[in-house]
Amino acid sequence: MDPIICDNYVMNLEQDRLRGIAVGAVVGDALGMPLEFHPARPIYDLQTEMTAGPLPAGSFTDDTEMALSLAESLLAHTPLDPDDLVQRFVVWYQSNPPDVGIHTSRVLGLIAEGVTWQEASRMAQEEEPENASNGSLMRAWPVAIARWQQREQLIEESRLQSLVTHTHPDCVGACVLLNLILYELVHRPSETPPDAALREAITVATDKAKIAEDFRLLVELAGVRSRETLANTGWVRHTVECALWAVLTTRSFEEALVQAVNLGEDADTTGSVAGAIAGALYGLEAIPRRWKDALRGEFPLGSGNIWSAIDLINLANKLAGLSTTH
Ligand SMILES: [Mg+2]
Repeated sequence: MDPIICDNYVMNLEQDRLRGIAVGAVVGDALGMPLEFHPARPIYDLQTEMTAGPLPAGSFTDDTEMALSLAESLLAHTPLDPDDLVQRFVVWYQSNPPDVGIHTSRVLGLIAEGVTWQEASRMAQEEEPENASNGSLMRAWPVAIARWQQREQLIEESRLQSLVTHTHPDCVGACVLLNLILYELVHRPSETPPDAALREAITVATDKAKIAEDFRLLVELAGVRSRETLANTGWVRHTVECALWAVLTTRSFEEALVQAVNLGEDADTTGSVAGAIAGALYGLEAIPRRWKDALRGEFPLGSGNIWSAIDLINLANKLAGLSTTH
C-alpha cells in the first residue's frame, strides 16, 4: 500500500475510534437510563431500544452532563485546571440536575458553601472511608480523547479529575485504568481481532494503572464471569467488572451495550463505561444508527441547548484536535 494511503487509513481508524468513545459513552448512558434502579432483565426479555424512563427516550443523565463539564474544562485549559473543573461541576450542581450521586452531591455541596475542593473531597471520604462509588469513573472518558497522544498526561489528568470529588484509591485507579484501556484500543493495530485487542489492552492498562491486587484480579477475571454472579451496584469495582464483562463476552457494539444495560441497577453508568470501551474497540461506524439518531439531551440544563450525536462527534473532534469533517 502507498505509505500516504496507509497513513490516512490508520488516522481514519483512530478518528473513528475517538469519536466512537464519545458517542458510545452517551448512547450507553441513554440506553441504560430507563433500566436504572431496576433488577436485571431476564435473558429472554432484554431491552434493546431507547425507551422512556424518568426522562424521555434517548435522554442522557448526570454521567454525560458531568463528562460534558469535564470536556469543556479540557477545551478551556491545558493542562487540566482542577479549579476550573470544579467550578463547572458546581454550576452544573446548582442547575438542579434530576440525578446526582450521593458522594458527588456531598462534595459539590461543600464546595458551593465555600470549602476548597481539596478539603471537601477529603471530608466526604473521611465521613465514609469505605465509600468507592463510580461517580468519577462515569465522567472520565473525555480525558482519553483529549490526551490520546500523551499517555503520561492522560494518566495524570485521569487521576486529577477523580481526586476533585472521589479520592478513594479504587476510584482514582478505575479512572486511570479505563482511560488507559481506551488509549490502548485507539492505538491498536487494525489486524488484531477485537477480543484479542481488548484483552491485550486490559493487560497493558492493568499493569500501568497500579490498581490494588484484588481489584486487578477482578478485572482479569471479568471475561469469565457468568451473568448471574454479577452485581451491578454503584461500587466502582462492580462498574468496571460489569462493563468489561459486557464487552469481553460479546462481538459487536450493539450486543455489548444490550448486555451491559440489562444488568439493571446502575445501568446507565455501566452502559456509559461499556459504551466508551466498545466505542473505542469497534468505532463510531459500528454504533447502531437508530441509537445515534435517538440521542437527545439538554446541556447546560435550562439553557435550551440540545445535544445530539453530531454535537458529540464535533466535541470529540475538538478534544482530539481532529478536523471537523468526517
Ligand atoms: Mg446517571
